Amino acid sequence: MATLDSDTIVAVATPPGQGGIGVIRLSGSSARTIGTALTNTQLQPRVALRVKVFEGDVVVDDGLALYFAGPRSFTGEDVVELQVHGSPVVLQKVLQLCCAQGARLARPGEFSERAFLNEKIDLAQAEAIADLIASASQNAARAAVRALSGEFSRRVSSLAKSVERMRVLVEATIDFPEEEEDFLAHYSIPEQLIDLRADLSGLIDKSGQGRRINEGVSIALIGAPNVGKSSLLNRLSGEDTAIVTDIPGTTRDLLKVDLVLADLPVRIVDTAGLRESSDPVEREGVARAQTEAAHADVLVCLIDGTTQNWRKELEGLLKKVGWSAESGIAVLPTVNKGDLLTAEKDDPDFVTISAKTGAGITRWIEALRGQVGLTSEVTEFTARRRHVEALQSAASHLERGQAQLQNLELLAEELRSGHDALGEIVGRTTPDDLLGKIFSEFCIGK
Ligand code: GDP
Repeated sequence: MATLDSDTIVAVATPPGQGGIGVIRLSGSSARTIGTALTNTQLQPRVALRVKVFEGDVVVDDGLALYFAGPRSFTGEDVVELQVHGSPVVLQKVLQLCCAQGARLARPGEFSERAFLNEKIDLAQAEAIADLIASASQNAARAAVRALSGEFSRRVSSLAKSVERMRVLVEATIDFPEEEEDFLAHYSIPEQLIDLRADLSGLIDKSGQGRRINEGVSIALIGAPNVGKSSLLNRLSGEDTAIVTDIPGTTRDLLKVDLVLADLPVRIVDTAGLRESSDPVEREGVARAQTEAAHADVLVCLIDGTTQNWRKELEGLLKKVGWSAESGIAVLPTVNKGDLLTAEKDDPDFVTISAKTGAGITRWIEALRGQVGLTSEVTEFTARRRHVEALQSAASHLERGQAQLQNLELLAEELRSGHDALGEIVGRTTPDDLLGKIFSEFCIGK
């Protein structure tokens, strides 16, 4: 388990650049002494004081000082926040003065890491802070706030407790083999396992939704040349409700676009037109399209509506990218150039759009949400890929346990592994290197 060091850390907590206010945050046993030394003022817990910040006799700036005595603070340690003017020059100066008084610069995520190590928040809550800060939509922000308040962690912990209870029972029985006979029936172990697996599967669905709203849905857009892939991307960019980032590429390359469609963050990869080619550059493009398709959440198969046999076109596309039903990748068959069609050609398995006129796009976005299981308006909490994977791992241990009801030692072993997998989510059994990686992806000052 990672351990705390005794350093007092300092960082600018507000974003880089100029602003009305800039906040410098100190955490650690010397935070109050350093704050007092810089301001010539005795700081009082939970009182905002108007102060001047001094370098010797020179006034560097004036602002507010806030002191939170540990353990009643974000990190659980003594914390001082100095609010000064948001000038990068002033903020750098105050940082230097703090360091001259014995503080050291904080690593990225170190405040949150300390909050975690001091058990103010668990790991999933710490991640929710980062997710809230980075959230790309109102929906994602609300869901992250709920994850931060512990809604997700509580469900994980409650499942973990049930698994642990069962494990203790099973292990106790191994120690007293004469009771083994009626043990399973007496404690309704098979029924309990069924219930647990059902609860876990519900949580996997919900966290899958939470992950998509949080990390975004990845969409691979595939189709033959000239079906209208670029036109659709342009049309969707126009629907975007947030910032659009274009990662430029040539027509033979992959073009990635991040968009927010009806509050759903998506990353669309426009793949090179899929066709057999002897041109090595184009062949490479198709190979990469296949790789993208294998990693996407959804394959949008775009077909030119004026072609005769839509189903045959669709099958051909899926075959080219090597899609199989077992891959779990959703497929959204889409017919473009609907403006050139007559009504009779409608097929309920295809969503018809016109990238040119915009007809059908709203319905298409709804169909997309449906394909990724985001039909309900409210996503309960945000989650990350690692959470979903840990839940899936716990589920497969419980499944294997269920198949081992005749062998209590193996059952106990599966329950232990399932319990550990759940513990990784909240940080109870998370290896140090993974913890380090998670916190290092936070920004400085968080
Ligand atoms: P891509 O090669 O798949 O990226 O296809 P483009 O987006 O470049 O489109 C190929 C051609 O089809 C262009 O001439 C577009 O103007 C045309 N096109 C694209 N979408 C539509 C549509 O919805 N209706 C009509 N009538 N033409 C379209």
